[in-house]
Amino acid sequence: MHSKTAVIIGAGPAGLTAALRLAQRGYGVTVYEKLPVAGGMMAVGIPEYRLPKEPLFAEIENIERAGVEIRCNQSLGSDFTVNDLLDRDGYNAVILAIGAHKSRKLGIPGEKNVGVVHGTDFLREIGVFNRRLGSGDQRLVPSSQAVVNGKRVAVIGGGNVALDAARTAWRLGAKEVHVIYRRQREAMPAYAEEVKAAVEEGIQFHFLANPVKVLGDSYVTGLVIQRQRLGEFDAGGRRRPIPVDGDEFTLDVDMVIPAIGQTTDTAWMQDTGISATRSSTFVVNEALATTRAGVFAAGDAVSGPATVVEAVAQGMFHLWPVRSIDEGIERLTGVPAGERGPDGAYPPDTVNGRVDRRLHELAEKLEAFGKQPRETVAKDASDDDEEAQQGDKEPTGPTEPPPGEPDLPGDLPEPVASKWQMANS
Ligand SMILES: Cc1cc2nc3c(=O)[nH]c(=O)nc-3n(C[C@H](O)[C@H](O)[C@H](O)COP(=O)(O)OP(=O)(O)OC[C@H]3O[C@@H](n4cnc5c(N)ncnc54)[C@H](O)[C@@H]3O)c2cc1C
Repeated sequence: MHSKTAVIIGAGPAGLTAALRLAQRGYGVTVYEKLPVAGGMMAVGIPEYRLPKEPLFAEIENIERAGVEIRCNQSLGSDFTVNDLLDRDGYNAVILAIGAHKSRKLGIPGEKNVGVVHGTDFLREIGVFNRRLGSGDQRLVPSSQAVVNGKRVAVIGGGNVALDAARTAWRLGAKEVHVIYRRQREAMPAYAEEVKAAVEEGIQFHFLANPVKVLGDSYVTGLVIQRQRLGEFDAGGRRRPIPVDGDEFTLDVDMVIPAIGQTTDTAWMQDTGISATRSSTFVVNEALATTRAGVFAAGDAVSGPATVVEAVAQGMFHLWPVRSIDEGIERLTGVPAGERGPDGAYPPDTVNGRVDRRLHELAEKLEAFGKQPRETVAKDASDDDEEAQQGDKEPTGPTEPPPGEPDLPGDLPEPVASKWQMANS
């Protein structure tokens, strides 16, 4: 019997990491996951051709073997509430690790037509379907909306989600795949190698182009697209796209996949005492405590859509202070300081420059956190952190400082992030 119990909501990298670390510290840990599959966006977002699923599911089995109970098909808001967990079931801590799964809408006429499937919904259906098929259940098929074989597909957005959706549609037999992006190629937030690979595969790109209307009475038959020109530089240092009046063209397509960003679904949050920022990330302090005592948060639901390694780091953040930046980086990457190249560079197959910078920032935070435990600081949520995974959302508003809340006590020895997590970042 455990003297302390914690429940984690969401079985993505943040939730699974927190679950494992808490179990290793002697907590009784249960993870509630909305989907039939654990793994979060690693399982149902990042496609198989970029992140093979077998090592992921093997890792998850290891976490279960360490004593973590994962209950799938359990959704916060419909199957249980935060009050149930704390007041009725008596858990000592709740960690919200629900990611950012709510797709941003285009807000144009025709978006409700059959054949419009938002990027993460499309990838999720494929991910869940593949997992079930892998387990031998041949009866399941993705919804007709997600069947792309032989169809002409338009994907909207310039981030990695858009590229993943486009390249997945192509692999599933789409007749044509078009990527529509409102800025120019150099401004795409997607990894350059993904764009290059997509071009080589035959995916067609339309730059300085923005959809204004989905055509069709109930089924998608086409997309009206307005050309853009570049205007003044915006706060993010990129030139703002400006619609060119009267300059429109039509693409004949059967399916439209908007992939212009995601936010956290906070529809269940009323009367919980938990606060969110204007950009729907949880308000937390430096110990990742929310504004409700006993409730913590981690991952994309705190940072806004980011990366696996950042979610893993947050999953162990308050459980795992480190003494130096080197130690932080070593623990985050699994690469000992001595094995790094000249100037502290990382092996090229594990991280790129962008992640290097982020890792360093994270390690600094871990170090600061190790030195100054439990100081109450408002998390600077969202900012322009969307770049790696998102379409192109605009920067959002400030956060309010939360009060200091009790946290989970004690340090944790020996955690090391798996290398595959980095290798696939
Ligand atoms: C298409 C795509 C490609 C990406 N590519 C990369 C990449 O190449 N490299 C990289 O590092 N990162 C990538 N990312 C980002 C990375 O996957 C995320 O940053 C990371 O998974 C976030 O982890 P998380 O645990 O915070 O949330 P998630 O991984 O999103 O996990 C959250 C979990 O919570 C569950 N959940 C949500 N709501 C509820 C609820 N109400 N009740 C119960 N459970 C709930 C969800 O089903 C999910 O399983 C990509 C993301 C996407 C979408």
